[in-house]
Amino acid sequence: MRLSQNIRCTTARLAGKSAKYLAKLGSGMGKSFPGHIYLKIGKKECVSRLTSKLDIGSILITGTNGKTTTTKITALLLANNTNITYNYESNTINAIVTGLLDGKASLGIFEYGIRDIKHAIPDTVSRIVDPVGVVYTNVSREHSQVSGVKNPFKEYLRAKQLLSAPMKRGIVISNADDPRTAYIGKEKEKDVKVTYYGLDIEMEDKTPVTGDVFCPVCNENLVYTKRYLNHRGIYQCGCGFSRPDPDLKFTQLKAGKDHWQVRLEGEVFNYPTGKNLQMDFPIEVPAFGVHNLYNLLCAAITYVTFTPKPERIEKTTRKIFDSLDLSILPPGRFEIFKVKGDKLVGMGQGDNGDALKANIQFMQTYAGGEIVEQTAFIYTTPDEGEEEIFEDHLSSLIYLNPRMVHVVPGRESVEAARKYYEIIKDKLPADFYPLSHEDMEKRIDKIGELVKKSPYSYVIVSGCGPEQYMWGNLKTSCKGQQ
Ligand SMILES: [Zn+2]
Repeated sequence: MRLSQNIRCTTARLAGKSAKYLAKLGSGMGKSFPGHIYLKIGKKECVSRLTSKLDIGSILITGTNGKTTTTKITALLLANNTNITYNYESNTINAIVTGLLDGKASLGIFEYGIRDIKHAIPDTVSRIVDPVGVVYTNVSREHSQVSGVKNPFKEYLRAKQLLSAPMKRGIVISNADDPRTAYIGKEKEKDVKVTYYGLDIEMEDKTPVTGDVFCPVCNENLVYTKRYLNHRGIYQCGCGFSRPDPDLKFTQLKAGKDHWQVRLEGEVFNYPTGKNLQMDFPIEVPAFGVHNLYNLLCAAITYVTFTPKPERIEKTTRKIFDSLDLSILPPGRFEIFKVKGDKLVGMGQGDNGDALKANIQFMQTYAGGEIVEQTAFIYTTPDEGEEEIFEDHLSSLIYLNPRMVHVVPGRESVEAARKYYEIIKDKLPADFYPLSHEDMEKRIDKIGELVKKSPYSYVIVSGCGPEQYMWGNLKTSCKGQQ
């Protein structure tokens, strides 16, 4: 029995490695195919042999927004101090196993996206990978319907929680400012060490929060004394639940046009050495919004927690953060640029309420006060069955109060877009362009034309849409007008 399992795991490893070699030669399946082959032959039990080869272990990064950016920056930081293997933008166990097949690394860093319990297997993945770190970025409502089935927020939150549920060792890293991830952290404190990160800056989000934010413990409305970004801030509830004290913070933010300066302050437990580390030093980062400040801080705390070379923390952090530019962000990212005639355009994905709001806030930070009077909004809608995302989007649109809303379908259903438009036009001046998903070129051309012809000084283009197929191509086309 023992012997046959040995043979099976070895065969699986060899097959997986040769699949990896083949995948490198071509085909877009390189990120998950080798892992698929490995699991097919070796089954789940063999994966522990791969994970035990890592000196430090594996880290899984999850959340609603910012996973990919956080994973990339964490990998950049840790790669400076040790051998790593990592994978981003691939949300399956196959992709994680593909990363583990690399062999010589001390540390594995993997993005793991979870939409609901049915389509992901978070607790199984956690048991198989046996991570030393599970990292939470934030939890907002999104994908309220997955493959035609309603996905209530409570279950969505529960699915995220399950990724760290089986952990009996290692560290859980949680966003203190987000009551949902803070709740997951608080609940997990009985099993393992939980480390929190949060902001301590003057900047405040004055826009109304999208939807009510309920206490994850007792379901009452949470009371905020300060909000940094939508539902992330400083909060408390009558039942006693409140924001945990962050172990690592960004403080003293100075926001410039191209660069932001901030201090990294705190005391964090370092897993490889078993020691508490204190830090307090300034860093410079590109000006890319409060939402990305959270991603940077999350990457920083993950790095500080898992680096085997604590003496290099300050030097490495400053070096990597200083060299970052916007290319680290995904192709659909929200970007601000000028087009002909000095018009300022903010354009990019905002496919859940939280993300769209972050885009508006970034544009406001960048453009200043006059934006309200002078903005056109080209809104790309969610799909059929995504009414909750639409509700969140609508509340941000109403708050911004743009002079004109051009409504364009963002996903497949033109009829759903029309239905959303009917609701918008009762509240704001709006028009509608029923452009199909199939003819994306036409959709992109039309949006480009709307940007060009708009009489307003500011144009925001945001909402739902496929990452590269729509946003990537749209941005390339509009920047051609610069
Ligand atoms: Zn409560």
